[in-house]
Amino acid sequence: MITVTKAFLPPLEEYHARLRGVWECGWITNEGPLVTELEEALRQYLGVKHLLFVSNGTLALQLAIKALDIRGDVLTTPFSYVATTSSIVWEQCRPVFVDVDPRSLCLNPDLLEAAITPATQAIVATHVFGTPCAVEQIEQVAQRHGLRVIYDAAHAFGVQYHGTSLLRHGDVSTLSFHATKLFHTGEGGAIVTDNDELARKLAYMRNFGHEGAHTFAGLGINAKNSEIHAALGLCVLPHVPELMRRRRALVQLYDQLLAPAKLQCPQLPPATTPTYSYYPVLFRSEAELLRVCDALQQAGIYPRRYFYPVLTTLPYAPSADCPVATDVASRVLCLPLYYELAEADVARIAQIIQLTMA
Ligand SMILES: *Cc1c(COP(=O)(O)O)cnc(C)c1O
Repeated sequence: MITVTKAFLPPLEEYHARLRGVWECGWITNEGPLVTELEEALRQYLGVKHLLFVSNGTLALQLAIKALDIRGDVLTTPFSYVATTSSIVWEQCRPVFVDVDPRSLCLNPDLLEAAITPATQAIVATHVFGTPCAVEQIEQVAQRHGLRVIYDAAHAFGVQYHGTSLLRHGDVSTLSFHATKLFHTGEGGAIVTDNDELARKLAYMRNFGHEGAHTFAGLGINAKNSEIHAALGLCVLPHVPELMRRRRALVQLYDQLLAPAKLQCPQLPPATTPTYSYYPVLFRSEAELLRVCDALQQAGIYPRRYFYPVLTTLPYAPSADCPVATDVASRVLCLPLYYELAEADVARIAQIIQLTMA
């Protein structure tokens, strides 16, 4: 069976070696040596100033919203994973959907200003499939109107933009290290920021508000992650360049074999170095997408409709008219892409797609 993704697992001996250290010192969680080592390794690898390892990407988003004291309305994208919207609502804010750009599938910056009201406090945008949002324009609008900017960068691990980490944009970027992501720790996530004061606040917020053993700096929650998860991350991280090389080769093969089908793909802005986390394609209609899904499933191949349905249909979010996102969500499909996927499988998938579309 071929699924949309398959978690990369490092050689078990490498994980055992890390775990032996944990067993020897008996330190399982609460800012242990492996969590500290992973945070430092990720800061260096990604080229960011502050990075806090947390339990998952959803808590990373919730903490970011909380730490920035965002209350009222939040302009956000209707084309993302549900956690982008649910985190806003969970933090008692109101998501206001702004439609996406049909080329990048990210928030359309030209529509932001018309959506701003006195209640607007922030923008939460997703670098969908690792494609950078229009960060310059978003930040201009945010500055002009005094808004905070959070990027859900769950797909943007390692993406470079104009020669530096894409994660350096916005007040905060959040990452997910869920098993389905390019770099993972089983479950996990991180919050990235350049702001020293905010980093200090996030550090106590993820640890019940503790400043010292018996002192509290403010309100907090338990969003820490463990040595067991950090150990897995430390074993996966050295393999990331190899994972990206393999993915790039598979992406180039898909591009070549699917060229005759003339499928639309999201466009990367110039000066972007991608990391090949996903292979999204847009069919001409939902009916065509469903036909292709059926044909693939009959061959034991299970792609995923990332992201369907469009988030404007969530029962707990205010509805909004986002025709581009609604259309895109009905036609986009992520094809299988992972380290162990074989060239022959890519060829088979491409052939089934072409035969079904013909
Ligand atoms: C995976 C993902 C999340 C949630 O991350 P978890 O670590 O699973 O909580 C949030 N946003 C986007 C865009 C994602 O793809």
